[in-house]
Amino acid sequence: MANFIKLIKPKVKRLFKNIINYLSPKYYFDKISDIDLNKLKQKNIDTILLDLDNTLVPWYNNYIDPEIYNWLNNIKVNNFKVCIISNGLSIRVKRIGKELGFPFISNAIKPSTKAIVKALKMLNSKPENTVIIGDQIFTDILAGNRLGLTTILVKPLAKVELITTKFIRIIEKKILKYLIKKNKIKIITKVNNSFQELK
Ligand SMILES: [Mg+2]
Repeated sequence: MANFIKLIKPKVKRLFKNIINYLSPKYYFDKISDIDLNKLKQKNIDTILLDLDNTLVPWYNNYIDPEIYNWLNNIKVNNFKVCIISNGLSIRVKRIGKELGFPFISNAIKPSTKAIVKALKMLNSKPENTVIIGDQIFTDILAGNRLGLTTILVKPLAKVELITTKFIRIIEKKILKYLIKKNKIKIITKVNNSFQELK
């Protein structure tokens, strides 16, 4: 038994490390509007893929916070290529996508990479020049890391969430706590906007 554990231990460790790498965002921001677009440009990012629910708007309504609205306008001004990629229903995604004037893909079933591949093709963008921004590790971040995009996690806009999301958040919190403890990520705010790379 002892021998077996000895044999299996490095394999389990490697597997754990791989899983953690797939679930780790490159950056973790307090709010999407805190992301400095000039710094993204400096990192050769020309394409921004956006999650919708709890990243741009709370999941239960269509209200866009003025600060976020402004930030989204700046994306246009700075000529980034954009697409909203949402697991949400088409009616809602369409309505907000049209209001913002961004292309959109609904029912994306992230962490499937299908919708992202479609968006990259549509925008004529490369994974290495693309960032995906979202509020969930198991959908947005996992999908982005699977394709080698730059991944940015933001804190969810709404505190009240669906019961299924609530359950996932418990696991997410544990992972984030681990990543912060291991110094792999740090919460970036407007004040300490250092875009520090810790990985
Ligand atoms: Mg979301």
